[in-house]
Amino acid sequence: MIHIEGVGKSFGATTVLDGINLRIAPGEVVSILGASGSGKSTLIRCINGLEKLDRGTISVDGFDVADPKQLQQARRCSGTVFQLFNLYPHMTALQNIALAPVEMLKVPRREAEEQARALLASVGLADRADAFPAQLSGGQRQRVGICRALAMKPRYLLLDEVTSALDPEMTGEVLDILAKLAAGGTTMLFVTHEIEFARTISNRVVFLDQGRLLADLPTAKFFAADGGLAHPRITQFLTRMS
Ligand code: ADP
Ligand code: MG
Repeated sequence: MIHIEGVGKSFGATTVLDGINLRIAPGEVVSILGASGSGKSTLIRCINGLEKLDRGTISVDGFDVADPKQLQQARRCSGTVFQLFNLYPHMTALQNIALAPVEMLKVPRREAEEQARALLASVGLADRADAFPAQLSGGQRQRVGICRALAMKPRYLLLDEVTSALDPEMTGEVLDILAKLAAGGTTMLFVTHEIEFARTISNRVVFLDQGRLLADLPTAKFFAADGGLAHPRITQFLTRMS
């Protein structure tokens, strides 16, 4: 579904991604761990076609993200949620969620709004449909952001530290939603600092270290002494995060 092959990316003299190979199959829940600055967000942005690759290829459902003609189709397969709440401030929660289905998929407005209401209900926000982002808590905004991504019926979700700007209580409510989606079979690639969460819901853990993929292991193996923990950099990282 997502094929990343030999990807390299530099900003000026700084190599940010170096020879990344990664494949995500349908139904997989894969977490990306790594220290700040290790290239996690850049990798997500490359998958989305928001950064140009210097080397290698990325294809999503067979669509090459480096080809402008195929990028739109590749993006249509994906739903992305970022760390910052990038909802349109002048639109209600409902309008934020219904916008792309109406504009891009040409879904009739009434139908898109019905779907948006159902999504809001599924994340416990049935009564906040007409609230503007400024009237929502951070956790509520991120839940709306997840609904907005899901409204496009994506084949997979990309999530970049969606809880890192939230306080612990709100983090919990957002992670609960993601756990529910994972259990329901949604394919997800997510960057997180929530180690316990990654351990609980992912099938696989990928560890980036200075732009290199240091480990790509089934979750149990990643946290095992003869697996990920055999790498001093990973042990050091996990010790620091706990
Ligand atoms: P992470 O998400 O793992 O914290 P990032 O992918 O955001 O890491 O960044 C990796 C490295 O790339 C960092 O050193 C960062 O400063 C650098 N970087 C990211 N985006 C840019 C950019 N647009 N221009 C220059 N350097 C960048
Ligand atoms: Mg980041």
